[in-house]
Amino acid sequence: MKIRRQLSPLYLSFPLVLIAALALARYSYRNARQLAQNSEGSVIAGLFALGDQTRSRVESFVIDSDRELFNLVDLEHLQDFSRRWSEIVRLSHAVEAAIVLDENQQLVRGGYVNKRRNKPEAEAFLRLFMDRIRPELPLAEQRPDFHRHLHTNVDGVDYLLSYIKRYDAARNRVFYIILKVNLDYLVGTSFPEMFESIAGRFLVSVIGSRGEVIFGQPISGAGKYLYDKRFESTVYQWRLQMAPLDNVKLRAGSQKQALADTILIGLMLGLILIGTAFLVYSISTEQRLSALKSEFISNVSHELKTPLSLIRMFAELLMLGKVKTPEKGREYAGIITRESERLSRLIDNVLDFSRMERGKAAYEMKPGDLGEVVERALDFFRYRLEREGRQLEVDIAQSIPRTLLDENAMTLLLLNLVDNAVKYGGTGPIAVRLCVSPRGKEILLSVTDHGLGIAPDEQRKIFERFYRTRAVRNTNIRGSGIGLALVKHIAEAHGGHITVDSQGGKGSTFTLTLPVSAIKEEPDEAGGDAAFDKGDS
Ligand code: ADP
Repeated sequence: MKIRRQLSPLYLSFPLVLIAALALARYSYRNARQLAQNSEGSVIAGLFALGDQTRSRVESFVIDSDRELFNLVDLEHLQDFSRRWSEIVRLSHAVEAAIVLDENQQLVRGGYVNKRRNKPEAEAFLRLFMDRIRPELPLAEQRPDFHRHLHTNVDGVDYLLSYIKRYDAARNRVFYIILKVNLDYLVGTSFPEMFESIAGRFLVSVIGSRGEVIFGQPISGAGKYLYDKRFESTVYQWRLQMAPLDNVKLRAGSQKQALADTILIGLMLGLILIGTAFLVYSISTEQRLSALKSEFISNVSHELKTPLSLIRMFAELLMLGKVKTPEKGREYAGIITRESERLSRLIDNVLDFSRMERGKAAYEMKPGDLGEVVERALDFFRYRLEREGRQLEVDIAQSIPRTLLDENAMTLLLLNLVDNAVKYGGTGPIAVRLCVSPRGKEILLSVTDHGLGIAPDEQRKIFERFYRTRAVRNTNIRGSGIGLALVKHIAEAHGGHITVDSQGGKGSTFTLTLPVSAIKEEPDEAGGDAAFDKGDS
């Protein structure tokens, strides 16, 4: 309960950090996207500005060259028109033919010149114009001197006609001048010249009314980096298309950037979460440990107090001579001995534990007989067990090989295991067994009781320092939670390991497995030359 209450603000901080990190990630992601969109937007805006500029350059070019020619028409000397215009049309590349109509939209005499030397072809165009194109021209509604274009397709052929209405005030007459623009020249010569300056950076193409490519290469896959607009007043059946040459690179670049941003943000988010989880984990572990430590201190103090007050009480009884019979006196002395043993065991445990904690636990390894060590250690317990009416079954195999061991540490290990069996083993018998594994490579020492047992999820934790099982915490069986941590340390220092086999409510068996070490013994025991120190190297 206490631990939970201390941790709650910490656990509360985790969702807060999570929310903050998520909000930050969302904000950064949106910002990165906005930035990408902005730069994409400025590329597209640049493309469209240049596209509009190029389109109007084409149209100005057509309009300007037509206007120059219109100005050359001298209505005063129309009789001269044919001669002068043959000259002009021949020299001008932009115009292929010129026609002058009167106010009734009839051809004036000598009012038709064509660059083509082939007469039938020139006449064919005039006929086509008079029959098919002229009706399309809104000549009557035309404002004087107002210059307009007709872009039409007749029998699959594109025609661009430039026309103007002129008023001859001297003769009070109206004339219409129509120029046939040379589209082959426009596409073949003028377009390449006009698009030259941008051709290195952009793909340019002009698309006809039926989707056919009039100029350049068809542009595909440019996506939003495609400029596609119809010409406005001259070749208005055609469209100008433009795209940055590196549009594929641009698109891939912006996709790559978006991916990199997402990965980076995800990575940062992951790191924040892992860091926070790690922090919460470390702090909660630290808090759990500190709570366990305070519990440990209160347990140890209690464990010290009980035997001390018993020793004091019976020593005072003896001192004051308040002993009725010599048997009673022996009994009191026995209690004093037992309690002082308990005290010194506890102190040994605490001292060894603190040495182990500081990494200073040193073991004095000597060749020894574990059977003897076990028997000697169990002698300590005999009196206590007999008094408490507990049965101790000891089974030590005959041929236990001598092995390298620290006798004191091994005694401490066994005493801890047996002490636990007494404390948590209920009233049933306690069995201590020492034997060699079937293959003869290991020595097995086990302590079995038939008491409380240990739940499966706690069987690993009991070897951690200060840990006490749930079943024990609510009883008045006192303990410090360091005994098994010491047992584990001692077992491992001997190159072995400790395991537990237990069922809740049915008892437990703790088994120490020690490798049999190959030792060369000197005949002189006092030498102790096989000894070594397995401390903090
Ligand atoms: P303690 O001083 O509490 O006995 P230990 O480190 O020796 O400390 O044991 C840790 C915990 O393991 C004990 O508190 C107890 O909950 C559990 N435990 C140890 N031995 C036994 C056993 N033989 N039967 C049941 N539980 C045991």
